[in-house]
Amino acid sequence: MTRGKYDVVVVGAGHNGLTAAAYLARAGLSVLVLERLGHVGGAAVSAQAFPGLPTRLSRYSYLVSLLPDRVVTDLGLDLELVSRSTASYSPTVRAGRATGLLVERNEGEATRASFRELTGSDDEYDAWRAFYDGVAGLARAVAPTLTQPLATDAAIRAQVDPQVWRDVVERPIGEAIARRFRDDLVRGVVGTDALIGTFASLHDASLVQNRCFLYHLIGNGTGEWRVPVGGMGAVTDALARAATDAGAEVLTGAGVSAIRPAGAGEPVEVRWHDGSAEQAVEASYVLANVAPWVLRVLLGEEEDPATKPEGAQLKVNLLLSRLPRLRSGIDPEVAFAGTLHLAETAADLEVAWAAAQRGELPDPLPGEVYCHSLTDPSILGDVPPGTHTLTYFGLHTPARLFAADPEGTRAEALRLAMASLDAVLEEPIDSVVMRTPDGEPCIEAKTPQDVEADLAMPGGHIFHGHLEWPWASARARLETPGERWGVQTDHPAVLLCGSGARRGGAVSGLGGHNAAQAVLEDVAATGSAVGDFTRAGLRW
Ligand SMILES: Cc1cc2nc3c(=O)[nH]c(=O)nc-3n(C[C@H](O)[C@H](O)[C@H](O)COP(=O)(O)OP(=O)(O)OC[C@H]3O[C@@H](n4cnc5c(N)ncnc54)[C@H](O)[C@@H]3O)c2cc1C
Repeated sequence: MTRGKYDVVVVGAGHNGLTAAAYLARAGLSVLVLERLGHVGGAAVSAQAFPGLPTRLSRYSYLVSLLPDRVVTDLGLDLELVSRSTASYSPTVRAGRATGLLVERNEGEATRASFRELTGSDDEYDAWRAFYDGVAGLARAVAPTLTQPLATDAAIRAQVDPQVWRDVVERPIGEAIARRFRDDLVRGVVGTDALIGTFASLHDASLVQNRCFLYHLIGNGTGEWRVPVGGMGAVTDALARAATDAGAEVLTGAGVSAIRPAGAGEPVEVRWHDGSAEQAVEASYVLANVAPWVLRVLLGEEEDPATKPEGAQLKVNLLLSRLPRLRSGIDPEVAFAGTLHLAETAADLEVAWAAAQRGELPDPLPGEVYCHSLTDPSILGDVPPGTHTLTYFGLHTPARLFAADPEGTRAEALRLAMASLDAVLEEPIDSVVMRTPDGEPCIEAKTPQDVEADLAMPGGHIFHGHLEWPWASARARLETPGERWGVQTDHPAVLLCGSGARRGGAVSGLGGHNAAQAVLEDVAATGSAVGDFTRAGLRW
């Protein structure tokens, strides 16, 4: 039973909605979170994907980089994020011989030696070091600002090497990659960070790929992608505990159908359906954890197909009886511990993008694979020794390709994904895929349409829409708390608190943190909350 009025109603209990709820409830505001699904977490969940087997896989998102340590500390999250021993391995064939490029997490002699063996000299590795040292400078300038009101681009730019700024912020990232690196595999390994969750050419004039690249490199100032112990559900569980322990109410099975802002200073009405009847509640602030495109529909606008985001990834979860051997002869426990790049040379990526643009599934299909259970076996449960999880994330499979024949195209995309993997394996992946007690192969494939159906991410876009620069341009209006924190909508009492907020993309809690800060700033300025909030009530 909910009360009729709250300081804040959060629409959606994704990890960002829970983050906002935790901050606001700890500050003493009354908070109700409404979630359409029967559970919390959105795309940050663990699931027992294969009937009869206990393993709990990170079903959608799987690695964490952008969650600021500060959010973990502020909310006292009981959460362990651990490093992978390998950063990446990229199998390839040179002079007819299977080989590969190994990048350790702590780059040492093995990484340098791998570059030298692949490219014939130290030049490419020196270029790699120089490039990433420059990008690290940019990351160090941006990271601390992510949990602050928006910095201006001029303020960030003043701290960054001008060439790095030009390469990453002003010109298509493909230009810098082509100029700085000679080896096409190295170029591809660098370029993939620009294309995870973003359907674009590395040379796209919109620079949407540059923004994606930046987000992949700035997390906590290092850009390291870490493994959440217990799977992605552990992130959500910790946030849900922080929210409810602080007094937030979380209602699942509550699909919001309308958000109705009234005049300035008037409460906003939120309507939802609890499965049996329509319900309504009023709030001083509504935080939208849903995508901006979904929010517009909830605010009463017609669905506009022209502005609907479009996802472009194929996510495949597998359970293996053991890790397969690779043609290059590398130890599978080294190769699969990091990101294993498949068909991701720069040329492969451009050819695949062009094919998808023409309406064809790319062949070979670029994608990357990683094994969670090598770093964190806790998700496996009681399974035979040697069992491992495998996650495949395929690029350049936009939703439009699946529209005419969703089932048939999913099956074909899965075949192509497994063929990309088989191309680098000594033994077919099929031979090591586990089966459920019913004899079904432990393979689960999710197209953008599946992600949309499961999670209401429009078009299956993993970031709720294109990523934006994590700073404000000189011309941006920064008058209201919502504008200063990059969470504003057209309605002052309705704020974005999800992946679609500026700086909100990925598993970061930033959308939630920043929306909560905007509310607290507004409350402090206007005293507009209805609850018992006072500045002294802040508990951190
Ligand atoms: C396949 C895949 C792989 C990814 N991999 C990674 C990764 O490894 N690392 C990473 O950092 N990011 C990754 N991402 C992106 C990341 O998961 C998302 O950006 C992030 O989870 C978004 O969190 P959120 O809380 O903003 O929104 P969501 O997770 O989308 O949560 C929104 C919530 O709102 C609910 N909702 C929607 N409509 C309504 C309604 N009308 N009423 C009530 N509730 C509603 C939804 O059910 C959902 O629970 C991946 C995403 C996908 C899909």
